[in-house]
Amino acid sequence: MSYDDQNIFAKILRGEIPCDKVFEDEFALAFRDIRPQAPVHVLVIPKSNYVSLADFGAQASPYLVHGFFQAVAKVAKQLGLQESGYRVISNAGPDSHQEVPHFHVHILGGGPLGPLLAT
Ligand code: 5GP
Repeated sequence: MSYDDQNIFAKILRGEIPCDKVFEDEFALAFRDIRPQAPVHVLVIPKSNYVSLADFGAQASPYLVHGFFQAVAKVAKQLGLQESGYRVISNAGPDSHQEVPHFHVHILGGGPLGPLLAT
């Protein structure tokens, strides 16, 4: 699947659509999910254009992968979740119901999260 630069997160990265930003560095932008599914629900996206985790893991340089996941850990710490705990999820492809085709992870926390998957 080729990268569609009209996806909603590409527009957020370009500043064409606003977001509730919580963190930014050279690798990543983090902002609150518009439809939160936990008391804290933040999305972290790389500043580089990859469709999914599969794409990012296969194609991105070790420098970008390292920088991105360092940013994810920094965001969780900044959100005050390091001690209480949190969950990181990345949907990839149709079975996961990935909605936005720009690689991202969800950071969920702020309270007990329940089972990993809804039944
Ligand atoms: P996915 O299903 O692709 O893993 O998750 C996409 C997430 O992006 C969803 O949780 C959805 O609520 C969120 N989302 C979709 N559009 C927007 C938007 O315009 N702004 C923000 N902040 N979140 C969005």
